[in-house]
Amino acid sequence: MALIVQKYGGTSVGSPERIQAVARRVAKYRAQGHQVVVVVSAMSGETNRLIELAKKIQAQPDPRELDVMISTGEQVTIGLVTMALMELGLKAKSYTGAQVRILTDSAFTKARILSIDEQNIRTDLANGYAIVVAGFQGVDENGNITTLGRGGSDTTGVAMAAALHADECQIYTDVDGVYTTDPRVVPEARRLKSVTFEEMLELASLGSKVLQIRSVEFAGKYKVKLRVLSSFEEEGEGTLITFEEDEKMEQAIISGIAFNRDEAKITVRGVPDKPGIAYQILGPVSDANIDVDMIIQNVSIDGSTDFSFTVHRNEFNKAMSVLKNQVQQHIGAREVIGDDKTAKVSVVGVGMRSHVGIASKMFRTLAEEGINIQMISTSEIKISVVIDEKYLELAVRVLHKAFDLDQESL
Ligand code: ADP
Ligand code: ASP
Ligand code: MG
Repeated sequence: MALIVQKYGGTSVGSPERIQAVARRVAKYRAQGHQVVVVVSAMSGETNRLIELAKKIQAQPDPRELDVMISTGEQVTIGLVTMALMELGLKAKSYTGAQVRILTDSAFTKARILSIDEQNIRTDLANGYAIVVAGFQGVDENGNITTLGRGGSDTTGVAMAAALHADECQIYTDVDGVYTTDPRVVPEARRLKSVTFEEMLELASLGSKVLQIRSVEFAGKYKVKLRVLSSFEEEGEGTLITFEEDEKMEQAIISGIAFNRDEAKITVRGVPDKPGIAYQILGPVSDANIDVDMIIQNVSIDGSTDFSFTVHRNEFNKAMSVLKNQVQQHIGAREVIGDDKTAKVSVVGVGMRSHVGIASKMFRTLAEEGINIQMISTSEIKISVVIDEKYLELAVRVLHKAFDLDQESL
């Protein structure tokens, strides 16, 4: 007998029929003698609908009140899934985040889980119940409802698995595993049988939304056995996230290509090249709570230089206005220019550690298509470039092929 946490995303609970299919899978596992905790998202489209609704009342919704309303989507699905389980004759019980007591900090709309009280759930499991927990939501120490950021039900799933010391956390979604890149953009993309945590962390943080990055961090920290599977198929081994490189079955140099359309680039031109400038530029940006991604400073010519960085596209206007004030009042730079039509493409693979020439192959491939690279950043196992958004899909496709990731190349 094993304890299994199964997390189902929006499409997997998107209709009464899909909810009944979830219940049938849970019943199958129960019949095999396993204990099952189900974590569910809101029905597909529901969280977006609720956010749009909020914006009709308040253009910039109050974060506490936004969390009060956008957390309701998951409350609907836990009720429905529990009813579907009862209809199959199972003992089942739902829990909201607050009922479990998934304690988070108070950072509304992007809260972090601090602790989980799993005692009641353990007792219910021992008494033969299948448990259904609302993903994406928690409660802070003052009893305020919080949410964990978009895609946050993945993190609830992994955190529940960690708290319960589950044997496995299964993430059921609308694709049958983690692919070499988003299969909706590159039909030739290939499912990976396994991927290392390190690679998955990079892929998630660089834009592959199949897993929320915090869920991967959690799984790494608490050594949760994590598998991504399709809720639309009866069988299938999905993709296992492994801890050790040598556990990997496929030894490709590059495991995958991630991309992110939401980048915006800002350049401060003619910055005096002297100590403290990076701080003077990025300090006010960070004080305005804007996350900065890539940063590049050019060599100085005649004592002045250009300084570029990227931010999320949603924060572009805010960052531009913060900087324009700063540049005019304090820095003495020539001008601030911005481009919110950029995108980031990254190749990821632990094999990069032992192979040279990956960067030059990436740059040559993009050059052959006439795609200009605006910024580059590297780490031990990834290379990212910022390019014009209009070339994004072309870039992903040609890189996928160049690194022998296309299906037919196997
Ligand atoms: P859920 O609602 O189940 O959480 P998501 O939409 O959040 O599902 O994540 C699944 C989607 O992630 C897939 O439909 C796919 O388009 C996208 N995706 C992006 N990159 C990848 C990748 N490397 N492998 C698999 N899916 C990916
Ligand atoms: N329903 C939430 C969202 O759409 C959480 C999730 O689906 O993981 O972001
Ligand atoms: Mg998701």
